[in-house]
Amino acid sequence: MMNQKAVVVFSGGQDSTTCLFWALERFDEVIAVTFDYGQKNKLEIECAAKIAKELGVEHHILDMGLLNQLAPNALTREDIPVEAGKDGALPSTFVEGRNHLFFSFAAVLAKGKGCHHIVVGVSQTDFSGYPDCRNDFVKSLNVTLNLAMDYAFEFHTPLMWIDKEQTWALADSMGKLDYVRENTLTCYEGVKGDGCGKCPSCVLRKQGLERYLSHKKQPEEKEVSQ
Ligand code: ZN
Repeated sequence: MMNQKAVVVFSGGQDSTTCLFWALERFDEVIAVTFDYGQKNKLEIECAAKIAKELGVEHHILDMGLLNQLAPNALTREDIPVEAGKDGALPSTFVEGRNHLFFSFAAVLAKGKGCHHIVVGVSQTDFSGYPDCRNDFVKSLNVTLNLAMDYAFEFHTPLMWIDKEQTWALADSMGKLDYVRENTLTCYEGVKGDGCGKCPSCVLRKQGLERYLSHKKQPEEKEVSQ
């Protein structure tokens, strides 16, 4: 059997860190790739680098500053506030074309490294209307990249059909809930771990965690009372 290698698109957040652990359980060799697109929170990239180092994973940080130039958004521009989308519009944190470009560059890296597998942490369940988090998009891009590079890529999306609560459950099933909770950064204000607690990203993360922990606690309590 051939050595199975995977590239994980890795931001240092909850979702992609869970995917990194998922990949480490399945593939012989895992490489993480983080994109620097001029995020205001440099800490995000530092978190990613620290996690990759702790897990002994080869880590590449690629410059995608072009995205900040092309697609103004609240994650890279000081003058754009973080806001939910009104009347069906996308929130100001949406970066046009981000996953399309990231996944394509990840594929170039993957082929260069002899990796056929690419793992991405997108979810159609919690996708806030982001078109490039949808399953159809990932499937379509997979075909396009295979044709573009004459190479058999296989995209993996372990979080596609699960919500934040189930993403915590997945981390817990691998024994990594505390690690993911303490070491990842999802907060738009750049606060590691449980975050600022107020921004849309923290609210989503916190709700999922609280739901997971409360559902998890119930069977244990029953055991104690028996
Ligand atoms: Zn926050």
